Amino acid sequence: MKISIFGSCSGTLPFEGRHHTAFSIIINGRVYWFDAGENCSYTAYLMGIDLLAVSDIFISHPHMDHVGGLGNLLWNIRKLSTQSNTLPYFGDVTVYLPNEETFNGTLSVLKHTEGNYKTEYHTLFHKITDSVLLKNENIEVEAKHNRHLEKTNDGWQSFSFRITAENKKIVYSGDIQSVDDLSDFLKEGCDALFIETGHHTAEDICNYIVEKQYSVKALYFLHHGRKILNDFDGVLQRCKTIFQNVYFCNDKDVFYL
Ligand SMILES: [Zn+2]
Ligand SMILES: [Zn+2]
Repeated sequence: MKISIFGSCSGTLPFEGRHHTAFSIIINGRVYWFDAGENCSYTAYLMGIDLLAVSDIFISHPHMDHVGGLGNLLWNIRKLSTQSNTLPYFGDVTVYLPNEETFNGTLSVLKHTEGNYKTEYHTLFHKITDSVLLKNENIEVEAKHNRHLEKTNDGWQSFSFRITAENKKIVYSGDIQSVDDLSDFLKEGCDALFIETGHHTAEDICNYIVEKQYSVKALYFLHHGRKILNDFDGVLQRCKTIFQNVYFCNDKDVFYL
C-alpha cells in the first residue's frame, strides 16, 4: 500500500513548507483519506493522486487543522468529475466524522459554490462511533475514541483509527490526550504507528513505546508541533537513539508498506 502525506503540521500558524495534517492510503487503486487539513487536495493533486479515486474520508475530530481542507477536497472531486464527465470510480463519497454539524456546515458552504455543488453521486455522512467504520475486500477501518476532546451529548468527538489491509496493521492516533488512549490498539501490535506530536514530545512517545514493550514495528510522527519544528534534526536524532525505526513526516512524503 502507498501512504502519501499531504500535511504534516499541527494547528500552528502558517508555517513555511508545511500544512495541517492529512494523508491517504491507496489500496488497489482506491484512495482512503485520513484527516483533511488545509490545502490537502491541492497538494494531493500535484502529487499525482487521482481525486476521483477517493471513496472514503475519515476525519478524526472537528478541529480546523483536521477539517480545514475538507470543503475544498469535496469541491475538487466535483470539479474533476464535471470537467471530465466521469463519476468517482468507487461510487458515492463518504465522509466519516464524529459530528454531523461539521459535515452539514461544510455542505452549506459548498451549496453556494459553482453549480450549487450538484453532483451525479452522493456525498454521504457516516457518524464515527467506537466501531468498525468500513470493511470491504481490501481494508478494514476501526475507530476508537480518545480523550483529546470531552464526550458531549452527541458522543465522543475525537477518534483514533486502526487500518488493516494487505495483512498489515496501521494505527493512526489523530490527536490524543496521552498515548494511553491508544493502548487497546497498541497492545495488539502494529506494523506502523502514525502518531501526532503536537501535544507531546517525540522522545516521550518513543520511551513509552519501548517501556510498554508494544510490538510497534515503525513509528511515523506527524502533526508536528513547535518542539519538533524548531529542532527537527536534533529531535529526530535523539528519538533514533531510543527507537531506531522512526520517521518524521514531511509534506509530500510517500511511504510504501
Ligand atoms: Zn490537531
Ligand atoms: Zn485537535
